[in-house]
Amino acid sequence: MILEFVEENQNMSSVKLVNINKIYPNNVQAVFDFNLEIHDKEFIAFVGPSGCGKTTTLRMIAGLEEITSGMLFIDDRLVNDVAPKDRDIAMVFQSYALYPHMNVFNNMAFGLKMRKVPVPMLDKEGKEIYEIDKKMIAKYEKQLRLFLAQLKIAEENNPESIEEIQRNIAATEEKIEYYRTTPVQKYRYVKRSKKEIEDSVFRAASVLQLENYLDRKPDALSGGQRQRVALGRAIVRKVKVFLMDEPLSNLDAKLRVQMRTEIIKLHQRMEAITIYVTHDQTEAMTMADRIVVMKDGYIQQIGAPKEIYDHPVNKFVAGFIGAPAMNFIEGTFEKDHLSFFGYDITLSPERTKILQEALKDKEDKKVIIGVRPEHIIVTPNEEGNIALQIVETLGSELLLHFNISENTSLCAKVITNDVVKAGQKVNFTFNTDFLHVFDSETEVAYF
Ligand code: ATP
Repeated sequence: MILEFVEENQNMSSVKLVNINKIYPNNVQAVFDFNLEIHDKEFIAFVGPSGCGKTTTLRMIAGLEEITSGMLFIDDRLVNDVAPKDRDIAMVFQSYALYPHMNVFNNMAFGLKMRKVPVPMLDKEGKEIYEIDKKMIAKYEKQLRLFLAQLKIAEENNPESIEEIQRNIAATEEKIEYYRTTPVQKYRYVKRSKKEIEDSVFRAASVLQLENYLDRKPDALSGGQRQRVALGRAIVRKVKVFLMDEPLSNLDAKLRVQMRTEIIKLHQRMEAITIYVTHDQTEAMTMADRIVVMKDGYIQQIGAPKEIYDHPVNKFVAGFIGAPAMNFIEGTFEKDHLSFFGYDITLSPERTKILQEALKDKEDKKVIIGVRPEHIIVTPNEEGNIALQIVETLGSELLLHFNISENTSLCAKVITNDVVKAGQKVNFTFNTDFLHVFDSETEVAYF
């Protein structure tokens, strides 16, 4: 069953976002110049704190939110103006209310019954029909005339808006050029047969191990099973892109971990692109092939989980990715070492050179030092002047919290079989190979 499911989904897919901006009608700009190319079968996570624009971006890909400017391609087809139902996507939401009066089968079949399937139209020789979309050209030509008129007014009365209008003109011209040169495929829409719907639901139920629950109503299911039905409603359709918006946030901690694994397995079986929105960095780190870290509507960094963990580009990413979070210490760079609160750290010649070059024009030489908890080495020392404040036991690992100044506390993660208690005197050092240093003003990473 599973093999059959996979075989039907073998076309290569891609999603490309080019200079995407989103300004809501209340003038809030939620997304700034978003650029990303997602490759076939990739699992991508958008991660960032509340309000950073992840849901807005996902909804623009889904077609549920208009794109203010920029171009969105699914499989090299410009889809800015394509209705959500024609984008070959399926979406799983955070609140996935199932229909309480319908059993699992009907919950999963509902969308299939309601939604017609696009079938490529064929010419007399049986070839798929592609045509220049004159309607779209006319639409954008009209928009272009409007922008050109705006530009004229701005040149006389409002010079500061000229740049933005020119950007809009360039973007519109790009779309006109696309539609003039790219024939668009023609489709007709047909209802699915009862048999087709049954087959699709049975296939999805088999992938999600829900075969034995098809007759049950949602209130007779566990939280995890309900969540699987919600996923089932999306995967009954064979689509190129699955969009998931915090699908696990309503589940308890244990179930979240379980469902994480299930979604990864599902993604592997579906062989489609998955774009997954979460504010939980652990979810992003454990599930995604690549992570897009966002803040205040801007992409901060795109990369594989380990790459982002090892080489965060700035203090925000460094602090957001990783739990417990990276420790930050205000310090100064002096000749060949870092100083903070009376402590000195000698750096390698390569790292010394990087900082010498970067800080040569700065008088105060202030920096922010970043060190992950696992890169702090703590040793007992009865004569030491640092005492452990809090000791947290995580099973095989301990988290040790201690102050190195009045306002700076560090957290170290250590593996030890010894009994360690709060109050114990210690010494600490850093594994300097893994140290990070950030600019004290821009917070950009030097390394
Ligand atoms: P969360 O994790 O809380 O859902 P998010 O990262 O998904 O956050 P978005 O929901 O995309 O963030 O919101 C981004 C910004 O856009 C926020 O400042 C938000 O207030 C604003 N915003 C979202 N929806 C609208 C809307 N319909 N109208 C106006 N502003 C909006």
